Amino acid sequence: MKKYNFSAGPCILPQEVLLKASESVMDFNESGLSLIEISHRSKAFVDVMDEARDTALDLLKLKGKGYKVLFLQGGASTQFLMSAYNLLETKASYLNTGSWSDKAIKEAKLFGSVNELASSKSSNFNYIPKDYVIPTDSDYFHCTSNNTIYGTQMKEFKSCPVPLICDMSSDIFSRVLDFSKFDLIYAGAQKNMGPAGTTIVIVKEDVLGKVTRQIPSMMNYQLMIDKDSMFNTPPVFSIYVSLLTMKWLKNLGGVETIDEINKTKAIVMYSEIDLNPLFKGFAAVEDRSTMNATFSLVNDGLKDTFESMVKEAGIEGINGHRSVGGYRASMYNALSLDSVKVLVEVMSELETKA
Ligand SMILES: *Cc1c(COP(=O)(O)O)cnc(C)c1O
Repeated sequence: MKKYNFSAGPCILPQEVLLKASESVMDFNESGLSLIEISHRSKAFVDVMDEARDTALDLLKLKGKGYKVLFLQGGASTQFLMSAYNLLETKASYLNTGSWSDKAIKEAKLFGSVNELASSKSSNFNYIPKDYVIPTDSDYFHCTSNNTIYGTQMKEFKSCPVPLICDMSSDIFSRVLDFSKFDLIYAGAQKNMGPAGTTIVIVKEDVLGKVTRQIPSMMNYQLMIDKDSMFNTPPVFSIYVSLLTMKWLKNLGGVETIDEINKTKAIVMYSEIDLNPLFKGFAAVEDRSTMNATFSLVNDGLKDTFESMVKEAGIEGINGHRSVGGYRASMYNALSLDSVKVLVEVMSELETKA
């Protein structure tokens, strides 16, 4: 039986994408060869790479605006240091909204001085700080758009006097934003775009080339741009499946359409959390993420009953992160509204039982 997959990452992917991906492993586009046994320099794969770059820019409405798209390895975690390596000359500003931001700050400190403008650490990152000013003498400002672990999401991006870098790992392609506000966006594929193994980087080329340090080849954005993300062998399968997912989204109607769907899913989920007296939400209401809903039982005595009902219903992956506890329902793009309704039904059934 197919499960309702609320996993926070690696994430749920559309069924049709999984089907096409599995076919490509046996026989890629009727070539008689597997996608994962052909040269990454073959026309067949170079076409995949070109289309993936083009589709990403198309979905974000960034075509013809000076942006380059890269598909790199090492996860979003490598971007914590790679972004600083390439852009931090003396000092940079960071917003600390969770343990991923915290990790980005730690890496950046290896390259220069870091100004932590605001942090919600003392309240276990249950809200997004809003009261801060971005200094004009920073090399850049770095933020995390969606805090996967805590279920908070930045709704507003202040106008930024310096280059804006954003870790969008867990909400890229999920909502309408003016993406041209950002100079560097990165996202590990496995949260909302594809299987683990590649990280998309969308960079405005004119912010590069401003640091004086030597940058090792594998850490050098400009080199990766010049080599079309093929300085070394790219993770072909992960890139291909990411392309399939982006095409699925484009056929659905793009980011505008999924934005509406994601909002509906979030309303259904949070209404239950708010109206059902057995549950309480973790994140500050105005900062609630449309991607990851964090909540817990008011009375832990119902834990076993609830969890066995969840299991019975075929729901998987709702355990909260160890640093927050409780539950986390991740509602990435490929998760259907029906799946959310199944979870909500179990929650309301618990209320009738209790
Ligand atoms: C998961 C996650 C990361 C880390 O991604 P990796 O690809 O595992 O390195 C970074 N930032 C955010 C917001 C995440 O959700």
